Amino acid sequence: MTVLFSRVWLSLAAVLLPQPLIAQDTLDVLITGGRIYDGTGALPREGAVGIRGDRLVFVGALPPNTVARRRIDARGQIVTPGFIDPHTHAYEGLPRLGLERRRNLSSLMQGITTVVLGADGRGPVDVKTVLDSSEALGLGTNTYALTGFGTVRSRVLGNSSAPATAAQIAAMRALITKAMQEGAYGVGSGLFYAPQSYAATEEVVAVVSAAAPFGGVYDTHQRDESSYSIGLFASTREAIRIGCENGLTTNIGHIKTLGVDMWGKADSVLAIMRAARARGCTVVADQYPWTASGTGLSAALMPRWAQAGGRDSLRLRAADVTQRARILADMRENLRRRGGDSTLLLIDGDANAAPYIGKTLAQVAAAAGMPAVEAALDLVLRGIDMGVASFNMIEADIEAFMRDPHVMTSSDGSDGHPRLFATYPRKIRRYVLDKPVISMERMVASASGQVARTYGLTDRGELRAGAFADVLVFDPQQLREEATYTEPRKLASGMRWVFVNGVAAVADGAATNTLAGRALRRR
Ligand SMILES: [Zn+2]
Repeated sequence: MTVLFSRVWLSLAAVLLPQPLIAQDTLDVLITGGRIYDGTGALPREGAVGIRGDRLVFVGALPPNTVARRRIDARGQIVTPGFIDPHTHAYEGLPRLGLERRRNLSSLMQGITTVVLGADGRGPVDVKTVLDSSEALGLGTNTYALTGFGTVRSRVLGNSSAPATAAQIAAMRALITKAMQEGAYGVGSGLFYAPQSYAATEEVVAVVSAAAPFGGVYDTHQRDESSYSIGLFASTREAIRIGCENGLTTNIGHIKTLGVDMWGKADSVLAIMRAARARGCTVVADQYPWTASGTGLSAALMPRWAQAGGRDSLRLRAADVTQRARILADMRENLRRRGGDSTLLLIDGDANAAPYIGKTLAQVAAAAGMPAVEAALDLVLRGIDMGVASFNMIEADIEAFMRDPHVMTSSDGSDGHPRLFATYPRKIRRYVLDKPVISMERMVASASGQVARTYGLTDRGELRAGAFADVLVFDPQQLREEATYTEPRKLASGMRWVFVNGVAAVADGAATNTLAGRALRRR
């Protein structure tokens, strides 16, 4: 009886009593003197952060007799969770990315320690294989996967514009189920893009419903951010319906009001989201702080009916006099929506695209002696489908979305656009320090804790004992976005320390080139 009692008491005591930090329990890293923003949105506090192995041991008061292998004096700096980027193309193509891309310095030097894989509906189906082999090759940042509506539709229907049959929907559902079983955190879509754009709402609802038993997020580059097809408001309602009917959180990826017809209407979009929440739907968004979006020349200008079947079908249509005239008329209207030919900057492409990079469509058209849309069609038909920066947003709308507490920070990082290298320093500089539109604690939360909670990234995004040691130390005044539209591949500067799972990926301002990232799997 006594023995049993004392055993019970001992095991209870082990659970209930605080674990003392014994002097010989040497920490790997001790950060002192910094202002701690813990990622919850709470006000900052002075304090210490202790790291052992891949976890945080304490955050706040410094326990007595603390011994550490490495001590970081963070006076004059802030300490935050590593940022989590919920919309980026940094890891698109995993596991077949080279070492440089897997190392992901473009993200790390901004303080991003975790990136999504699978923006715009292009996420993997073979989630286990992709994550296992990427991790075996080595990753600079953590990553978590969304499976992709676009991926499954292309596998089952190719580039077809036909509605999916019941059998095809069943086949797509089976792929989504497999991906969710293998650890995806949700389903992404890019209904703006062909061939995903050919799927009617009902089809998307039916396919995405395969994720319902698992829960998670329906994340979307929605069908229309402008006045292209169904319009921004109807599109926002469609996105919410697809997520909410399936019991998923809806995330509106890179929320914006795209183009002259929609400028000034951010509050109306936010009102639609608020009304959905009042009905019981969970609706959030992410946003990047740039007035230029990044997309493809054909995605920006080409009518979707003309793209059905792929480039070869487009060539045949463009060779037909009547259809060519229709294509050009639709392109003129799309160009007007975006703000005209001087607002499209050609920024990325293969070797054939080199002569055009850094020029506006207006400049390319003038040099060719053609109207802008004919010059653009000519490029696309020649297979030079370039990446473009499309200056189609206004500051007032960007700030309105940014102030909304349900809007997270993302980069939408993509080749050729400086946002791949510079988004987080830019947002801190322009919208926290210079203006300020939001507070630093709100900035940090929108880039860490809020993202982790939305996607269910366990023990990430917050500085607290027991969480994974994804930690940043930096002086916000020293942080710089170096990349520009003309030099988009310049690493950000000013990030002093970046820890990924307790390992220093940036040490005293310099990249260490470690590959400490992990592939995260939803349980
Ligand atoms: Zn997108």
